[in-house]
Amino acid sequence: MAPPLPDLAALSIKQRLFVLEYLKDLNATQAAIRAGYSLKTAYSQGQRLLKNVEVSTVIARLAREREERIIGEADDVLRRLWQQFQADPREVVTVRRDACRFCHGERHKYQFTQPEWDLALEAHEGELESARREGLDRARWPVPPNPRGGVGFDPRKRPAGDCPGCHGRGVAVLWLADLDDLSPGASRLVAGVKQTRDGIEVKLVDQMKVTELLARHHGLTREAVVLDVTEGFAEALEAGRQRALEHVRRTRSEAGISSH
Ligand SMILES: [Zn+2]
Repeated sequence: MAPPLPDLAALSIKQRLFVLEYLKDLNATQAAIRAGYSLKTAYSQGQRLLKNVEVSTVIARLAREREERIIGEADDVLRRLWQQFQADPREVVTVRRDACRFCHGERHKYQFTQPEWDLALEAHEGELESARREGLDRARWPVPPNPRGGVGFDPRKRPAGDCPGCHGRGVAVLWLADLDDLSPGASRLVAGVKQTRDGIEVKLVDQMKVTELLARHHGLTREAVVLDVTEGFAEALEAGRQRALEHVRRTRSEAGISSH
């Protein structure tokens, strides 16, 4: 079995300090000074330490590990940007068209939800009760609530095309998703949530910015601004300029302004 590669533990304390300091700026003399070697011998000590097999092996390994870590972090950033780029913000916030009260009522009359109807009946019962207690004349008893379009209103239903209330357009409702249900990409679009006086405010990541960062990373932005100025393009530009000049001349003469 090959002997294990030396690691930091195999070095003396001073060597270890030197390695850690050297990795900060790759300056052997300064690293030797910071590791506690005397100013006078720092240069030669630094050179000697770099030639030491164990020291240089540990330095090489730690440097490689650091490089891999940096590459890994860069990959994570790119992966994150890519997820944000692909995510659909409508998964977080969208506008939905709910059925209106008249969409699905009988003969398109106003429709109650079950709890609303139960409350209306209860209220009526109460009014009847007090009318009886007060000994009111039957003719003056409160009339029962009118169920109109019936019970069972459900805003989640599709608007009815023949609805006289909304003409099939329904009611526009701002709809916010349960943030726990978002896909990984969409949840990375959410930059923050807060409760305000007007309701819940959701801050989304700026996808234009994300697009710009990705484009820059892939070298797309530079290509986008390099215009292919062919003869045809130059001619079109000149023709446009002439048209603009002509327009200015005409406007001026119509307004009675001398062009010179
Ligand atoms: Zn409707």
